[in-house]
Amino acid sequence: MKRKKPLIGVLPFYEYQENKTSVKMNYYDGINISGGLAMIIPVISDISILDSYVDICKGFLITGGLDVDPVFYNEPSLRGLGGVCPFRDEIEMYIAKKAFEKNKSVFGICRGMQVMNVALGGTLYQDIYIQQTDKNIYKHTQDAPRWFPSHEVIIEKNSRLMQIFNKERIMVNSFHHQSVKDLANGYRVTARAGDGTIEGIEYVEHPFFLGVQWHPEDMIYKYPESLKLFKGLVDSCK
Ligand code: MN
Repeated sequence: MKRKKPLIGVLPFYEYQENKTSVKMNYYDGINISGGLAMIIPVISDISILDSYVDICKGFLITGGLDVDPVFYNEPSLRGLGGVCPFRDEIEMYIAKKAFEKNKSVFGICRGMQVMNVALGGTLYQDIYIQQTDKNIYKHTQDAPRWFPSHEVIIEKNSRLMQIFNKERIMVNSFHHQSVKDLANGYRVTARAGDGTIEGIEYVEHPFFLGVQWHPEDMIYKYPESLKLFKGLVDSCK
């Protein structure tokens, strides 16, 4: 008998001025090609409905988007902060925490990784270029096409990320001006760019609670190796 595909909830982009949500197709392509069943979670504040989604989904994908509002890590907004959407932040942090408590898988991409860190008490650089003038920071906001790998990341040994890629260095794309600063307790860094920027984190004592700073969904067609992350998420839900 064919095994049932695990239902994976996808947290979408929320355009509050237009009162609508949207998801780039590559995100759910990544899940569906990897044997999962992607479902978009509505951005709503009704906790009982969100809880029902947490119950029926085996795992979650937190997608990219605007900056996380620094109010959630107790900082005032600095001048380098970009656009924010605190309503979306709140809902995604709620889902991340609930999924965490229930040992359900969560994969965070770009902003999604940052949300996962802040949800459990971590902090971010609001703008890596302004806040780290002491370092030779890479260009993490590439102008090259979305699928183009523009910088290398070095993957830590004995991490789930290493299990997924089975190599120490991979090339990734980069579309962020924020990054993880202080890790929340329980996480470890699993990938860094050559300038020290955190590009991957995972919660040590959890089956699959993992984030990356790059956008693998935009690379799945040109660089199928990127699918391994989605496969990792789906397989962890079986
Ligand atoms: Mn980067």
